[in-house]
Amino acid sequence: MKKQYICIGCPLGCVLEVEIEGKEVLSVSGNQCPVGEKWIREEIKAPKRTLLTVLPVKNGKFDTVSVKSSKPVPKDRIPELLQILARVEVEAPVHVGDVILHNPLGLNVDIVATREA
Ligand code: SF4
Repeated sequence: MKKQYICIGCPLGCVLEVEIEGKEVLSVSGNQCPVGEKWIREEIKAPKRTLLTVLPVKNGKFDTVSVKSSKPVPKDRIPELLQILARVEVEAPVHVGDVILHNPLGLNVDIVATREA
């Protein structure tokens, strides 16, 4: 089966023509650099996303703080991670870059604050 994807590696947004069988990539064309082929092979085999969300803050100058995963996490683990984060309340003060949760689910990823609170 042939499918088209837009590469997200840079603003050029190359249209990738990808021949796929199951989760196996047979061929990639349309990419103007190797990043596009590397990205689409990973996207089809094991997609990852950076998790962005907000958490409640206790005794802070704001009621919530925005957080993100320090690296992209496997897309299929995101619901599990959100369930864990749904039980987290952060104690103020919070600073940008603070690790709110260290290595949840053993994914080798931290959840870090992206704002003061
Ligand atoms: S293939 Fe390379 S040049 Fe094209 S959008 Fe992706 S990163 Fe940019």
